[in-house]
Amino acid sequence: MSSSDFVIIGAGIIGLTTAFELKKHFPKASVAVLEKEPALGRHASGRNSGVLHSGIYYGADTLKAKVCSKGAFRMMEFADEHGIPYRRSGKVIIATREQDIPTVERLLQNARDSGIRAEKLDEKGVKEIEPYANPYRVGIYSPDTAVIDSWSVLEKLRELLTQSGVHFALNRTVTDVAEKDKCLFTSSGKYSYGYVFNCAGASADLIARKFGLCRDYTLLPFKGLYYKLRKERVNLVRSNIYPVPDISLPFLGVHLTRVINGDVYAGPTAIPAFGRENYGVLQGIRLGEGMRVGWHLARLYLRNQRSFRRMVHSEIGKYSKTHFIEATRRLVPDIMADDFLPSGKVGIRPQLVNLRTQKLEMDFVVESTPSSLHVLNAISPAFTSAFAFSELLVERYRTAHD
Ligand SMILES: Cc1cc2nc3c(=O)[nH]c(=O)nc-3n(C[C@H](O)[C@H](O)[C@H](O)COP(=O)(O)OP(=O)(O)OC[C@H]3O[C@@H](n4cnc5c(N)ncnc54)[C@H](O)[C@@H]3O)c2cc1C
Repeated sequence: MSSSDFVIIGAGIIGLTTAFELKKHFPKASVAVLEKEPALGRHASGRNSGVLHSGIYYGADTLKAKVCSKGAFRMMEFADEHGIPYRRSGKVIIATREQDIPTVERLLQNARDSGIRAEKLDEKGVKEIEPYANPYRVGIYSPDTAVIDSWSVLEKLRELLTQSGVHFALNRTVTDVAEKDKCLFTSSGKYSYGYVFNCAGASADLIARKFGLCRDYTLLPFKGLYYKLRKERVNLVRSNIYPVPDISLPFLGVHLTRVINGDVYAGPTAIPAFGRENYGVLQGIRLGEGMRVGWHLARLYLRNQRSFRRMVHSEIGKYSKTHFIEATRRLVPDIMADDFLPSGKVGIRPQLVNLRTQKLEMDFVVESTPSSLHVLNAISPAFTSAFAFSELLVERYRTAHD
């Protein structure tokens, strides 16, 4: 039976940065990362927008606010140190209707509370930064937003961790646990551990339940589809153009992002999906799971907390290219239907729902037992936040074991 002091389940950005932090504090400890896929980046960490957010969306009392802006700076430092391409291209967030104006003020207040640089702009100010954007009266400029090549970050972390002695076991799915024996059951035998970090992304809830946790939550998958702009039209977007979001929901709305290689993507949607890995139309749907998701979606729809019904209508509409294009043209009206090319880019956001309140959980959630810690709801901006978030996770372990 294999054995390690620390076992990390999942080689996404959270698992990798957790391994990185552990090696920093416990260089002599043995650390293993168990990953069910044959390669890194098959799920959220390899399928995101690659935007390093400033943290302006989150109230100062949230865990997201504590780790987002700090995480972005640490990610940029890491990129500087290891020659990973990133660009501090900034972003404009624009109001598209009268109802957005109070939210603009709220975001600016968040920025002041958390010491994030942000500037309120009038229409002319927005157009100086993004000449083709179409704000309704106002916008916000966030100079510290950046774009990064997510794949390069994952690969570099893997290289450094391997050099420092971290053992990677790919193609190894964790299926169960015998907690009193400190033993994980996996697709290729048992693995004994001193302490487990569950960083399994869209499956983190399933693993947490094996440890007797995650009782108050269920996970619902939301599909993020992207289109790509034709090369000849990428000049319509200089950096990042985002709408003012509905801050009662954990999604930022379809936006335009100029990624590190200069391509411009429009997306992602947040369409309810019927499987944790339902990347295609039917791919990744299992009957039991699909029924569970359908049941919980129906309950949320009927309860209609935080305008869930309106969100579902608007997002399902975006399965149609016409509706998707309408959402994008509210940001940049000059974009035409034939400027959009299909892109293979699609991701799933594993969104936690609180069963007691019947609301989508907005913040990161962490639960633990004496020998394990579970990262639940590692939704956006978990990529941005990863280094600072993992520092906090390891700090929690250290405090509990002092
Ligand atoms: C469409 C989209 C756009 C996004 N855009 C941004 C953005 O611009 N900026 C930002 O900061 N964030 C963004 N995010 C969010 C961000 O990508 C995620 O929050 C982050 O990548 C989560 O990382 P993770 O390590 O928790 O999960 P993952 O990357 O999903 O990694 C979890 C890993 O665990 C493995 N695993 C699962 N179950 C098991 C098991 N039983 N045994 C072993 N291994 C297992 C999986 O194979 C996977 O590799 C976006 C997300 C999506 C979907």
